Amino acid sequence: MDIMDPPIPFLDLKAQQARLGAALRARIDAVLAHGQFILGPEVTELEGRLAAFCGAAHCVSVSSGTDALQIAMMAEGIGPGDAVFLPAFTYTATAEVPLLLGAMPVFVDIDPATFQIDPVHLRVRIGDAVTRGLRPRAIIGVDLFGQPAPWPELRAIAAEEGLFTLDDCAQAFGAALEGARLGREADATAVSFFPSKPLGAYGDGGALFTESAERAALYRSLRTHGEGTTRYDVQRIGMNGRLDTLQAAVLLAKLEVFEAELARREAIACAYDAGLAGRVGVPARVAEAASAWAIYAVLCADGAARDAAQARLTARGVPSAIYYPRPLHHQPAYRAAHDGVALPVSEDVATRIMALPLHPDLSDAQVARVIAAFGGSDETGG
Ligand SMILES: *Cc1c(COP(=O)(O)O)cnc(C)c1O
Repeated sequence: MDIMDPPIPFLDLKAQQARLGAALRARIDAVLAHGQFILGPEVTELEGRLAAFCGAAHCVSVSSGTDALQIAMMAEGIGPGDAVFLPAFTYTATAEVPLLLGAMPVFVDIDPATFQIDPVHLRVRIGDAVTRGLRPRAIIGVDLFGQPAPWPELRAIAAEEGLFTLDDCAQAFGAALEGARLGREADATAVSFFPSKPLGAYGDGGALFTESAERAALYRSLRTHGEGTTRYDVQRIGMNGRLDTLQAAVLLAKLEVFEAELARREAIACAYDAGLAGRVGVPARVAEAASAWAIYAVLCADGAARDAAQARLTARGVPSAIYYPRPLHHQPAYRAAHDGVALPVSEDVATRIMALPLHPDLSDAQVARVIAAFGGSDETGG
């Protein structure tokens, strides 16, 4: 590799746009021509295509992944006094929604190998919540980095305890568990189309999936101000949570290439695994699963090794990022909500984790450059 090679982009939406070509423009032009910018025909078409893609009975598109989480919890009537169990190692959106609704997020530690919520610790935390006088109501399993949460275990606990299950699938649309695409693992599944997610729009967007016709009808009502059978029939307090028609048009164009993009992501992840194993901790695969590879995260030996690795990569034009530098229970915004228990795995992983570029427009040469930038095993360790 040449020292003059330009830096590798962490995400390359321009290359993807060029690859999508005229089909993308045609989709956008069709919306400009018909002018139905809210709940236009592309929104209905997209909902049908997305439901078919993951085999779900119902898809309700919404304005973002965060709003998908909020609408799902509003539909269950989750609020003050309710405990909502979720991993401490996730994006803030997962935990902010229960608090916005007056409910209490209860942070659960993660599995040190897969970084997914730890079902054994979940049982402990349900007991802790009851001791605090909270009413256990819901489990949010996050399919972190694109791999599925331990859904069979989470469903078993939810069935025993009578809890609602919500899949925060913001990072994992397109992933699969035991051969089935995510979308039916929980009572409701929330997906994000933020531009950097595996299936990304050119703005904010999201979707909810459910097998329940009653829930789907509630989601449609809640995303449009709680409307009933007509626009000025207000049945409940809702929100303005619709997906724009222009974003639906963009997503329809991107859906055409999505399977090929997922395959390319998997090939890059395999190349990283092969090139980096032994030099740094490569991500453990969740059993019986296919990842959507939103994020390819390696574990360094410690914080100093991560600093050294990041500096070395930066000097070679290879970007890296840290998801997440702090577990949520250590964030100022959540300190008052947390009961103070230590969550040692989340705390440790946050000090050592580092994400490498992984997007479908990375060339084989760029992948080789990322691997070569790691050099020997001395700095990063396992
Ligand atoms: C991105 C993300 C969200 C929020 O999605 P938005 O569309 O940005 O609102 C929620 N949870 C997780 C785990 C995410 O990564």
